[in-house]
Amino acid sequence: MAYKTQQEWNGTSPEDNSQWADKSKRKLYIVHYLGDGSTKTSELSRLRGAQNYHRDTLGYSDIAYNDAVGQSGTVYEGRGIDALGGHTKGHPHDYAIVALLYDDEEPSEAMKAAILDRYAQVNAHEGKTLKLTHHRGVLGKSYTSCPGPHLAAWIDAGAPLTKSTDPIIGDVSRGALLPAP
Ligand SMILES: [Zn+2]
Repeated sequence: MAYKTQQEWNGTSPEDNSQWADKSKRKLYIVHYLGDGSTKTSELSRLRGAQNYHRDTLGYSDIAYNDAVGQSGTVYEGRGIDALGGHTKGHPHDYAIVALLYDDEEPSEAMKAAILDRYAQVNAHEGKTLKLTHHRGVLGKSYTSCPGPHLAAWIDAGAPLTKSTDPIIGDVSRGALLPAP
């Protein structure tokens, strides 16, 4: 999983670090998607589009989510891991990551693996295991379609990864398939 700070992807730092989440209230790792039907193609244009919309139209201090994740498997810093979020009604203290997907686009295995890698990192950072869930898992199907049918079904199924993406290390010609160290 590659990780880019806002400084690295945008030349800026998260603007509002005056509002921190109350970690005693942080219990969920919530997955979202863009879902807005835009035709932007690159991850960075999608990410900047969301940030600009949240800042300029909604008047937020920064993009609403703690982090974002693209189809390439790169995780991008949003308003920051410790920040109070503007992502899920009634859940500002919980952690949220937005998948840079529109409508019913299918997430790649790299994106799914990055969501789980970041989940492990956030749990380590918090010193506890947050519940892996998604927007409509928190607020209900009638409230939102977020994070789209594919990610919702994947998370509801326990977030399995396809085994074929696992590296195989060993001398295949001799039949010695050794597990990765
Ligand atoms: Zn959402």
